[in-house]
Amino acid sequence: MTQNSFSDLGLAEPILRALHAKKYVTPTPIQAKAIPELLAGKDVLGIAQTGTGKTAAFALPILNKLFRHEPDVRSRGARALILAPTRELAIQIGDEIRAYGKNMHLRHAVIFGGVSQNAQVNTLTRGVDILVATPGRLLDLMNQRHVKLGAIEFFVLDEADRMLDMGFVRDVRKIASAIPKKRQSLLFSATMPADIAKLSGELLNDPVRVEVTPQATPVERIDQQVHHVETNAKIPLLADILADSSLSRVIVFTRTKHRANKVADQLERRGINADAIHGNKSQGARQRALKRFRDGESRVLVATDIAARGIDVDGVSHVINFELPNIPDSYVHRIGRTARAGASGMAVSFCDSTERPYLRDIERLIGSRLTVIGDEPAYRAPEKASANSGHPNNANGKPGNKPGRKRNRSRNRRGAPGGNPGNNHGGGNQGGNRNGARRRAA
Ligand code: AMP
Repeated sequence: MTQNSFSDLGLAEPILRALHAKKYVTPTPIQAKAIPELLAGKDVLGIAQTGTGKTAAFALPILNKLFRHEPDVRSRGARALILAPTRELAIQIGDEIRAYGKNMHLRHAVIFGGVSQNAQVNTLTRGVDILVATPGRLLDLMNQRHVKLGAIEFFVLDEADRMLDMGFVRDVRKIASAIPKKRQSLLFSATMPADIAKLSGELLNDPVRVEVTPQATPVERIDQQVHHVETNAKIPLLADILADSSLSRVIVFTRTKHRANKVADQLERRGINADAIHGNKSQGARQRALKRFRDGESRVLVATDIAARGIDVDGVSHVINFELPNIPDSYVHRIGRTARAGASGMAVSFCDSTERPYLRDIERLIGSRLTVIGDEPAYRAPEKASANSGHPNNANGKPGNKPGRKRNRSRNRRGAPGGNPGNNHGGGNQGGNRNGARRRAA
């Protein structure tokens, strides 16, 4: 059932060459499931998270079909429309299309808000085959008649659950009503709450449902550790951990923008190259920071949950939760930034006495306990901030599992609701399991 290589999927030669250049040989599970259905012309409802290879799962068949069926008249307008909830995700999809389509003569444009529309309008005027867009800016440009959608043959709604969370569903419906009914449609979502099922019923025609269990990443392949540490000892601990150069590409998470800036500044002061990205930074600054991080110029990216959503950087060796998220789902999304596409990774969390309730919620959600490095608080009751909380001397702890200090408590699943004890896929995301709970903007 599973194809072992991309050449088994029957993709066109220029695409296979581009995949070869990226050293992608084996399709990921979502790709192996979705690509044949899409090549056969079916609508697809894909349940997959970022990190599963879902972008290529829809991008490759689209490129393949556009390559095989050249249009008679080039100037008719875009033939594929991909909607994404955030600028970062739209840009990343554009980057992947560029990479996979580099041996073809197809043109694509990426349209998103927060920047001047002039360059985007110029690109559109020159004509594009594939349009990647966030809904708000696309609607703007449609209203100004800069975009022609009458030739769309492929419509993709990516991260549909986030679209919903971010309030874009009305825009999505408006856009969908402006494209031809006769088309191939795809909807990808990490989760499938009732309103997404409803939307997919409206947008898709007799879809094939393909699904992968994304939580395999966090629970199975990521080494998850926690340091109990007081707030004012977090920076020294972070610097100490980062002194180890084997932490080659690290995302540090904070709950607030202010803290993200502060942590990046304090690391810089200690000679560690770090950039912060969050919603208050301009689009240009965010892109520059991401590029520096991708190119390895800065080892450390300090990010808030929202800014990091959809960020797709290969080879993130460590995720460090400088502050634990107050929404446990965010923990799963954060640590999913490491261990992408089959690699293993490590997630290190700092927990001060005020954050213990968050830790408890996270452990309940993932159905296992994090490995404690250094001293464990005498008791884990969160209510008393002063109660024998983390010791500053935890700052000696390194993610490399200090012998003798590690309290490797049982990783047996506790009876979390739907925690799927014994499930190969770790937390799983089937109904009732909160790992699969809808993503919320943190
Ligand atoms: P996505 O889920 O689309 O965000 O993809 C996650 C990461 O996996 C991206 O960096 C992709 O470039 C990478 N990727 C996608 N497909 C493959 C593959 N078949 N083999 C290895 N890496 C892949």
